[in-house]
Amino acid sequence: MFRWAKGYAYTGKRLFEKTVTIQYPQQKPKIPEGWRGRHYFYPDRCTACDACARVCPTEVITVVSHRDPETKKKILDDYTIEFERCILCGYCEEACPVDAIKMGDVYELASYAREQEFMTQEKMLPPGYSTDVVVHGQGEAYRGGDYRTKPEKKVNH
Ligand code: SF4
Ligand code: SF4
Repeated sequence: MFRWAKGYAYTGKRLFEKTVTIQYPQQKPKIPEGWRGRHYFYPDRCTACDACARVCPTEVITVVSHRDPETKKKILDDYTIEFERCILCGYCEEACPVDAIKMGDVYELASYAREQEFMTQEKMLPPGYSTDVVVHGQGEAYRGGDYRTKPEKKVNH
């Protein structure tokens, strides 16, 4: 008989509690620490060691580099991610010894075309980074960072 009163009482009690929902997209959520959103890439830190590409389970990272003939050090020529196949596992971030690839706080990941998900260095620059640090290679292996001219992966027989 008093079920309706119990219902009103419950609603009334909740009415003055702090809301847990937000008016998205006008309001943006606070991204928690450790969030695995789309990557930030720091070209000035990358040593072209290839560790991120080797650990990536979906093989979406391409590191193009050449060796300096004098110092024998690897020089980065290009770095891209085919983000449409990325599973946001964060292994690349874990594997990188110099924090050059980091999982970012970008969470609005929808796009209209697959090509838009091809991440160049420019697209992955962290906030505040100038495109001056972007490396577009001089080495023979550099193919221009284009989706259709991606260097073929080596197959070990
Ligand atoms: S988050 Fe995972 S799947 Fe995506 S690029 Fe990094 S290692 Fe590859
Ligand atoms: S991003 Fe890190 S792990 Fe990947 S090639 Fe550069 S230095 Fe190596």
